[in-house]
Amino acid sequence: MAKSITQLIKDEEKRQQANLSLIASENIAPKEVREAVGSVLMNKYAEGYPHKRYYGGNEVVDLIEEEAIKAACKLFKADHANVQPYSGTPANLAVYAALLEPGDTVMAMSLPHGGHLSHGHKVSFSGALYKFTHYGVDPETGMLNYSEIETMAKIFKPKLIVCGATAYPRAIDFKRFAQIAHKVGAYLLADISHIAGLIAGGVHPQPFPHADVVMTTTHKTLQGPRGAIIMCKQNLASAIDKSVFPGFQGGPHENIIAAKAIALQRASTPEFKRYAKQIILNARAFAQALSKLGFTLVTGGTDTHLLLVDLTSKKITGQIAETALNKVGITSNKNMIPGDLRSPFDPSGIRFGVASVTARGMGEKEMEQIAFVIAKVLDKPGSNAILSYAKREIAKLTKKFPIKI
Ligand SMILES: *Cc1c(COP(=O)(O)O)cnc(C)c1O
Repeated sequence: MAKSITQLIKDEEKRQQANLSLIASENIAPKEVREAVGSVLMNKYAEGYPHKRYYGGNEVVDLIEEEAIKAACKLFKADHANVQPYSGTPANLAVYAALLEPGDTVMAMSLPHGGHLSHGHKVSFSGALYKFTHYGVDPETGMLNYSEIETMAKIFKPKLIVCGATAYPRAIDFKRFAQIAHKVGAYLLADISHIAGLIAGGVHPQPFPHADVVMTTTHKTLQGPRGAIIMCKQNLASAIDKSVFPGFQGGPHENIIAAKAIALQRASTPEFKRYAKQIILNARAFAQALSKLGFTLVTGGTDTHLLLVDLTSKKITGQIAETALNKVGITSNKNMIPGDLRSPFDPSGIRFGVASVTARGMGEKEMEQIAFVIAKVLDKPGSNAILSYAKREIAKLTKKFPIKI
């Protein structure tokens, strides 16, 4: 007989306890956040916005959504926040629809250089609806080359420039991006999905007042529920709100909005600031340890929670690395590296992020231990002796640093 879903959820809980997640987009949501998601708020319909609803009985819901909006504006210094978007991809589509006409030109980072599918990749609706031109990173340094982006902007005259990425390990210069965008009469959308928690914690520069619109998912470094938020300058508030509802969505998920409010309020505490600082310390320690062990890091290091490792010199592909690490209890994901000649299904790189292991309480010493185990495994992915040694080491770490549930 098939296992019950309840049993499968328990199995997943065990899996998470027994494995280290080095997936850069993953994190561990605190209990209060998970409880809000499972709360009675999920029973309520609340189409519309606070005090302008299409259903009755929203006295309490209004207060919750207003708190979420207030917390988002305070944390990111925004004029206006819409906390209803279901997730990052639909939120980006809602931003495009608010600012653009179909066929308009947009500039964004290319996927193989670290951008996101929803930034106009051809398999995404965004790529079908708008004319995207993609900028990449400098082939030598792996870094964004702002003067080249400016040259492209002058040639293509986009109506919108998108900055932000899923696999770029360095800080983003929002001010420079805004100068470029505004020089050519374009809006600037900063997609801070990966780094929102770092910005909130004060370890990465803020996108406002530079960007016109800021979109973030709430479930990555921010440690909130799965979902997204769109923030903008006051003059765009009504266009953004109309685009989210009724443009793209129906009833908002008020249980998720409550969880977003909790995550946002939490993110302004000294405790969260310490967490964000530790993420940066851990990512640097991890990068240094991996470099010392002979790994090549794209851009040579990191300013954020994530690292992109170029495995070419190790003569191993991203898929082989991902599979070998998964066997010993380390979950990660294969990733394209800038200029990759291999396919996205078996690319030349692997991406690591330290938000989740930092949330378990690990520090720099543990990062060095993990790097050492990774080096052992990837040097001999076929060796059973090494696999069982690595498995034991990771099991020791996961037991010592359990996820607090
Ligand atoms: C994760 C991510 C998204 C998409 O978020 P989903 O909630 O998975 O749709 C969009 N943009 C960037 C830069 C991201 O990292």
